[in-house]
Amino acid sequence: MTQTGNMTSLIMIFGATGDLAVRKLFPSLYRLYNRGKLDKFAVIGVARRPISNEEFQNSVKDSVLTALGKNENIDEFISHFYYQAHDVADSGSYGALKELANQIDEKYELEGNRIFYLAMAPEFFGPIALHLKSDGLTDVKGYKRLVIEKPFGHDLESAKQLNKQIRTAFSEKEVYRIDHYLGKEMVRNIEVIRFANAIFEPLWNNRYISNIQITSSEILGVEERGRYYETSGALRDMVQNHMLQMVALLAMEPPIRLTTDEVRSEKVRVFRSLRSISGGEVDKYFVRGQYGSGTIEDEQVPEYRAEPMVDKESNTETFVAGKVMIDNFRWAGVPFYIRTGKRMKTKSTKIVVQFKDIPMNLYYQPEKMLNPNLLVIHIQPEEGITLHLNAKKMGGHLDAQEVKLSFANTGINAMNTPEGYEKLLYDCMRGDATNFTHWDEVAYSWAFVDNISDVWENTKAGDFPNYSSGTMGPRASDELLEKDGFFWWPVDYLDVDICK
Ligand code: NAP
Repeated sequence: MTQTGNMTSLIMIFGATGDLAVRKLFPSLYRLYNRGKLDKFAVIGVARRPISNEEFQNSVKDSVLTALGKNENIDEFISHFYYQAHDVADSGSYGALKELANQIDEKYELEGNRIFYLAMAPEFFGPIALHLKSDGLTDVKGYKRLVIEKPFGHDLESAKQLNKQIRTAFSEKEVYRIDHYLGKEMVRNIEVIRFANAIFEPLWNNRYISNIQITSSEILGVEERGRYYETSGALRDMVQNHMLQMVALLAMEPPIRLTTDEVRSEKVRVFRSLRSISGGEVDKYFVRGQYGSGTIEDEQVPEYRAEPMVDKESNTETFVAGKVMIDNFRWAGVPFYIRTGKRMKTKSTKIVVQFKDIPMNLYYQPEKMLNPNLLVIHIQPEEGITLHLNAKKMGGHLDAQEVKLSFANTGINAMNTPEGYEKLLYDCMRGDATNFTHWDEVAYSWAFVDNISDVWENTKAGDFPNYSSGTMGPRASDELLEKDGFFWWPVDYLDVDICK
């Protein structure tokens, strides 16, 4: 984590006219540039449509202005951008790309350092990696790194195939698998909150924590991504990667050092400890849902099955809730409840660490029990931490009431908080792969998820759609916690102080 790398690089973006490049990558590069974080650099954008360098540079300019509302020094910035029309499926045209890359490398003295960013549909990942090697684009005297977007495979088998193709051209250390949640400020903060505070780490185990809840809810529906989503669903799209990554960061042992290898190996140990759930047990631990029509922010929205490019009888889940058990000494018996879905009541990602009740409650009142202590980590859209404590009610006898201590990442600093992609691009240029997923993490998480999707794909969900748009998911999701004597802490109750 502490290593500093060479910030001189040729960045080749495959899919440079696409949504990800335009909305995230160009603005992130611009911010890095304006902060003086890029030494010598140039960008080659690759996509099929025949546009000129100038048109490409103008699209970069527009994207920066749209995303950031400002663009000082933009002309100097975009002068580093080049465009090559190239069909990645056409084996014959990689030669021209190589020639352009070599020329630009020389012109900007980029020392043969190359980052290949694949911002394209996943079916192209493997073939591009193979071509980069066979057509000599990876024959460089500097570093070569491959940045690859999700999804990394569709299941364990396809992920293995993809990995095999990639590894013929790049070593594991050269592969940067993006999980953009790992670029989020408060996800990165999890380990600091845990390992830099004497008041938390001693309590961070099954003696003091009763359960942990992770919710990532979206208001949006599937929009125009129906074709992709039908083959994915919430389990593959959110649980295999983002949700399990957050579980790993919350559950891992303190690494002996903050190096990439040490942090990753602690995370891998969590993945190895996940209780495997399969066959008839799946229904005891996991709940699936699909949204029906409903009202969100006063607007009537259609059910999932009425969305474009979605099967009218679709069995695809747009919601998942699950109870994840980590069978190791620290976490035995502590459920990690995860919940994610589309068309829910609110857009929010939060972690709630619920501590056990105190052994004897001196302040019990017949009409009200004391609240348990909660540590809430607000990931998005608000960023911050709230600690829920009990304290004496002002003026009263010795009645206790809940107080919330909050820290919010807002105000002046938030204006300068780097976007997730900016941090990840910067990490990649520095050669720091800590916040990218290692192959072992990918493989263990697919193995876990495959057991569940095997059951869901082979049994039709008779009750779909089973939650209305604008709610927090199906009733069965609440029952999952009720069986254990818990409930989902309502998101708006947790929001109270942090968003003000
Ligand atoms: P997109 O908008 O569909 O863009 C795809 C890009 O690939 C376009 O630039 C397209 O340009 C190019 N392309 C398609 N076929 C090509 C070919 N045969 N040869 C060369 N270029 C080709 O996709 P996206 O939303 O940016 O997503 C890209 C990747 O990022 C996907 O893996 C996605 O899952 C992942 N991702 C995206 C987001 C996001 O916010 N968009 C978030 C997380 C992950 P031409 O049509 O001109 O060829």
